[in-house]
Amino acid sequence: MGLGNSLSIENASKYYKKFKAVDNINLTVNQGEFLTILGPSGSGKTSLLKLIAGFEQLSSGSIILNDQDISKKKPYERQIGMLFQNYALFPHMTIFDNIAYPLRLRKIPKEEIKQKVEHILKLVHLEQFGTRYPQQLSGGQQQRVALARAIVFNPPLLLLDEPLGALDKQLRKQMQLEIKHIQEQVGITTISVTHDQEEALTMSDKICVMNKGRIEQIDSPENLYKNPKNRFVAEFIGEINLIKGNVVSVSDENAKVKVNDQIVADIGVNKDSGITMRNKTMLIALRPENIQIAREQTQFHNTIKVKVLETIYVGEAVNIKTKTETGEEIMAKIPAHMSEFTGRGKDILLGWNRKDACLIQDETLVK
Ligand code: ADP
Ligand code: MG
Repeated sequence: MGLGNSLSIENASKYYKKFKAVDNINLTVNQGEFLTILGPSGSGKTSLLKLIAGFEQLSSGSIILNDQDISKKKPYERQIGMLFQNYALFPHMTIFDNIAYPLRLRKIPKEEIKQKVEHILKLVHLEQFGTRYPQQLSGGQQQRVALARAIVFNPPLLLLDEPLGALDKQLRKQMQLEIKHIQEQVGITTISVTHDQEEALTMSDKICVMNKGRIEQIDSPENLYKNPKNRFVAEFIGEINLIKGNVVSVSDENAKVKVNDQIVADIGVNKDSGITMRNKTMLIALRPENIQIAREQTQFHNTIKVKVLETIYVGEAVNIKTKTETGEEIMAKIPAHMSEFTGRGKDILLGWNRKDACLIQDETLVK
């Protein structure tokens, strides 16, 4: 298997009549990287993928694959591997013939086809299934055949559009890892599209969050989760508390933030976060799992008195909905063994350390 190549999308926009579905996108995917485009329905993910594949033409901008501008090329000239939700294997062909199909199209010699198909069947753990027909395989196995067919001809790039959308939850999870492992083994540069944040976090080296045709943030899964840049990203990925506050002082490492004129929170910031202005309204972004029950105020950088409004048992933890004395609602995820503190109506102290929260701009307040 050859290695993948790098792809750059430069100032790419796409209009459908007057509607701008893709709005000045700049994006680079490095060789061998797995990038996921994550966004709600209608955010322009499929449009962007179609532009890369050549099924739609750019209104402006360019797409560079391996130093070559492919913007004007026909889909078949781009030689890109694709796997979409409706991957439709050919029902009247064996698994072997399904996978061999793109090689036969390309007039590859028979011996080489046999060798390539057998190699890839092994890679997707289906070496015993070459002579079967698609309807004799499970959904997950069929998906692997479709993946094999998409990469058997050694494309420079693999595009996946909600490839697991048709599978049930259990199988989806399993296939996420399978596809990721195969992608790593082959080393093929991959762009995947999904609206499922868990899928994006599981599979990707890099995630590009899209909203209304624009990129909100491109980052590693961990950075995206820990340091969302804005309200949209924060709310789209995982559960989060967003507490409005006023910045009253900033140093290199932390900011003091006043909430509702009373509570002063101590929040970690890094030097290049750009948070410098005082008295600026920001959001404290705090994940429920980063909040703990405090026995005393000195135990954490931040503690806050709350009343428990609601308790939701979720197995390994108890999710509690609480309210501060000044009316802020805070969700916390407390390990189940601490449940003696989490009963409805209880007055408790919640705590978190400065590095467990971050500050983000609230664009809805800026406008
Ligand atoms: P996503 O894949 O993120 O759900 P799409 O790229 O399919 O989003 O669509 C983005 C927006 O562009 C949507 O509002 C959709 O209705 C619109 N759109 C997509 N394809 C076309 C088309 N061929 N003609 C007109 N509008 C389109
Ligand atoms: Mg789509």
